[in-house]
Parts: sequence; structure tokens; C-alpha cells
Amino acid sequence: MGSGRKRHNRAARMTRRAQPDLDQIHAEYHAVQSRTVARREPLDIDKPGMGQFRCVACARYFVSVSAQRAHERTKAHRRRLRQLHTDVPYTVQEAMQAAGLGAMRIDQHATVR
Ligand SMILES: [Zn+2]
Repeated sequence: MGSGRKRHNRAARMTRRAQPDLDQIHAEYHAVQSRTVARREPLDIDKPGMGQFRCVACARYFVSVSAQRAHERTKAHRRRLRQLHTDVPYTVQEAMQAAGLGAMRIDQHATVR
């Protein structure tokens, strides 16, 4: 009886903070970094701070600019920035090749031992 309720709570907890995958964040983060002019986000009453204070790297919204600045000093944010600058996500073509689908290029094949 009690276990059913517990399982329900675990499922809710796992989906409550569902975030985009790192490869999705990676694409958006580098697109935002390459912009020369900052784009204003549209107002959204359902998001914290009307959706105006967003950390693109962590895919999080904040209630105020001071909360966002405090987040930018955290270890989690700095770790995410380091991850976005060092880890390059696999392309679809690389994934297909790893699964044995698609042709490998000769120059790539030569490096495989
Ligand atoms: Zn962040």
C-alpha cells in the first residue's frame, strides 16, 4: 500500500526537473555565444522571473538578476561551462559509424589500430 505511493513520488521527482540533454544545451550555448547582439527573451508568466533571467549553460531560469549572478558563482555552473568547452558531442554520423552503419572514411579508418 505504501510502496505504490512511494513509487509515484519517485517518478514525479525524476521528471520534475527534466532538463534538455547536454548535446542540445551545447548547440544552443555556442549559438548564443556567437551572437553579437543579445536577444531579449519574450515574457513568460509561467517561468521564474518572467523568463528574463536564464542561464543557457545550465538551462535554468532565475527570479532576479542577483539570483542569476549568485548562480554564476556556483561550482555547478562553472563545472557545466568547463564541460561545454571541453566535451564535444558526437554527431549522428559518428554514432551511425560506431553502430556499424554507414561507410567509414579511409583517413579515419587508417587511424584505427
Ligand atoms: Zn549556470
